[in-house]
Amino acid sequence: MNWNRRIQVLMGAAALATAASFPLAAQVPAARPGIPGNPVSPPQAGNTSAIAKEARGWLVDLIKINTSNPPGNEQIAAMYIAGVLAKDGIKAEILDMAPGRSAVVARLRSAAMANPAKALLLVAHMDTVPVEKGRWSVDPFGAVIKDGYLYGRGAIDDKGMLAANLAAFISLKRSMARLNRDVIFLATDDEEGGGDASIRMLIAKHWDKFAAGFAINEGGNVFVKNGKVQYAGVQADEKVAFNIAVIARGTSGHASQPTKDNPVTHVAAAVGKIGNYSAPVRFTSIVRRYFEGLAALEDDEIGKWMRSMETPDRGEHAQRVISDASPLWNAMLRDTIAPTVLTAGVANNVIPAEARANLNVRLLPGDSINAVVNDLNKLVNDPQVKLEVQPNPGLAAPSSSLESEFYGVISKVVSQEFGGAPALPFQSTWLTDSAQLRLHQVQALGLVPFPLAQEDLRRMHGDDERIPLAAFDKGVDVLSKIVVEFAVAH
Ligand SMILES: [Zn+2]
Repeated sequence: MNWNRRIQVLMGAAALATAASFPLAAQVPAARPGIPGNPVSPPQAGNTSAIAKEARGWLVDLIKINTSNPPGNEQIAAMYIAGVLAKDGIKAEILDMAPGRSAVVARLRSAAMANPAKALLLVAHMDTVPVEKGRWSVDPFGAVIKDGYLYGRGAIDDKGMLAANLAAFISLKRSMARLNRDVIFLATDDEEGGGDASIRMLIAKHWDKFAAGFAINEGGNVFVKNGKVQYAGVQADEKVAFNIAVIARGTSGHASQPTKDNPVTHVAAAVGKIGNYSAPVRFTSIVRRYFEGLAALEDDEIGKWMRSMETPDRGEHAQRVISDASPLWNAMLRDTIAPTVLTAGVANNVIPAEARANLNVRLLPGDSINAVVNDLNKLVNDPQVKLEVQPNPGLAAPSSSLESEFYGVISKVVSQEFGGAPALPFQSTWLTDSAQLRLHQVQALGLVPFPLAQEDLRRMHGDDERIPLAAFDKGVDVLSKIVVEFAVAH
């Protein structure tokens, strides 16, 4: 933790201490009324429009609670969520993780004795990435509604899903349906930072409170193409992140007399080679099934190349065509290495003694970072350049089964609700909390249930993040149906 971070954390704690001496309503948007048995919104199977309307209100409120990480300050969101649940008579537990940072968990029981192996966990994270406020066209924490979109940091990642989980959970309670398994609601902290308040520590401290055999989380998406849902990518696996430092050292000196061992030149040359390098293609079983399914949905030309990727004669060319067609497809097929930071120099007229770069590496599950370092050392071929794997790598976890009853339920509901569009197994190139869950024998599947076009998906972690309200409502409905289908005794 650097000093900036530490000061922010301390300020967060101070703000909260101050908040405690004022009425909470001044700090936290008031929870909206959601009265059990309210005659205006009777619990009806297959009718979730009333709950979707309430869920919009929760999403608006959650966006207005700034949980940019760092510092996160998720405790305020956790208290808000506990308040929403309390209105429906659901007792939530707030789990303090660090000053100003708390997770929140609640459970609907199927029997007096819980069977964790059967339980279903609905998980979403409360923190968001920060904003570059000046680049937004609206207040990122204003929850502005414009032209059918709700704008705000976290609208998709991940407060949209957080509100949808809350809706599915609360409507299950209101329906008074007989459950065949416990359903657990969990809102996590520090997903974007992965530090000491993250799900890793939450599992270490409180696993007994949310142990489950199945989970639905972010990680996959419902992809819209040309105005129609093309497919739902159900995340069953994810790539593993590493950072590698590229370091060159040399003799510092006067820039008026350049030397051959200038570290800037050596690091720049190494980064140039690495940036243009493509690691070899390797098919994981999930990626193979993904392309088999997608080939049938793409136009003839792309479909043909997708089907040819493992043929002996045209395979290599096909892999190149598909990799060039989409950065996502490229990254699903191979380890990727992206140079992200360059650090060198103290003054315009000084040759520095050291230059560095950072490589952000995303490995296919099962691949070895040492093998990548070996390949890069051969490619760079410069004894003055050292590659050092950095601490705190990502987590390699087993993939979730595509044969499980839960995967089957998601596939069935998706295809019913999105006009026959299929669910395809998806290996995300990004990280989620699911890796930690999979390491604990949870069949975690990732599906943000909102049908979204590329134009909206690309704004996640970027400027003007937004969710189409119609897509939000539809996602609330779909998620609720998945939960009912899987957890309600028929
Ligand atoms: Zn997220």
